[in-house]
Amino acid sequence: MNYRHIYHAGNFADVLKHAVLARLVLYMQKKDKAFRVLDTHAGIGLYDLSSEEAQKTGEWREGIGRLMLAELPPQVAELLSPYLSAVRDLNPNGGVRLYPGSPKLARMLFRPQDRLSAMELHPDDLGRLSRLFEGDYQVRVTELDGWLALGAHLPPKEKRGIILVDPPFEEPDEYERLVKGLAGAYRRFPGGTYCLWYPLKKGAPIKDFHQALQDLEIPKMLCAELSVRSDRETTGLTGSGLIIVNPPFTLKDELHALLPVLKQVLAQDRFASQRAFWLRGETQPEER
Ligand code: SAM
Repeated sequence: MNYRHIYHAGNFADVLKHAVLARLVLYMQKKDKAFRVLDTHAGIGLYDLSSEEAQKTGEWREGIGRLMLAELPPQVAELLSPYLSAVRDLNPNGGVRLYPGSPKLARMLFRPQDRLSAMELHPDDLGRLSRLFEGDYQVRVTELDGWLALGAHLPPKEKRGIILVDPPFEEPDEYERLVKGLAGAYRRFPGGTYCLWYPLKKGAPIKDFHQALQDLEIPKMLCAELSVRSDRETTGLTGSGLIIVNPPFTLKDELHALLPVLKQVLAQDRFASQRAFWLRGETQPEER
């Protein structure tokens, strides 16, 4: 386990993931009934972007750094407001020194009845995450393989939930694991809203991945992708995608408003691109 999210916190991929996570949490709150967020690969929860690690890559500058400085159209500013308000609340003196990871962001948006279960395996990260939420009765941090949590922790007792699966993609088979993980989790909890993260980079098996997801025959599956640069000259991360199962019915339109603006703000070259479409469900055949 070499991956440490502190090097990448707040980058363009976090921006897309966290903007969508915030929309999912907000949508759940349209009903009074409690829900649970299951964060299977949680990280440390709160990131100091002035740390040596974050400064070393400087990735956040091309992500949340740009977004915080951008002039946003009103509709997009409103859609991003839960996410960006959380970032601003952590940085009352302006700028972005502290950045909320997925568990912290979800927790910041919670009402008293909402709950978080966060899994982490890296010993240092687990320690930090546990300390961050020490004494918080709404949060349970567990040292557990996130893939196992998809079985052991579903369905949640609230019977309403968002399941974020955000693995580090250190292993070559992680796309297949996502598909298998979703298949098992969905069987246990078909009513959950799932959000799966995956990387876009040169040679990534995206077509096969999408096909394998379609083959699961889960009725409602939305895909959102944002690439910030061409993959011609690099083998590194050039974009990221999210698969959202059982999305709020408003999400597709929201993505169609958000993604072009995020692309404009985060683009690193003229090959930046974005798309949001039903992988399965509402409008078929697939529209792009
Ligand atoms: N979800 C976090 C966020 O958005 O702020 C970032 C998570 S980071 C991409 C992936 C995390 O998963 C790392 O902190 C890593 O230590 C942890 N991890 C790796 N393998 C794991 C496993 N099998 N189960 C749980 N956590 C794991």
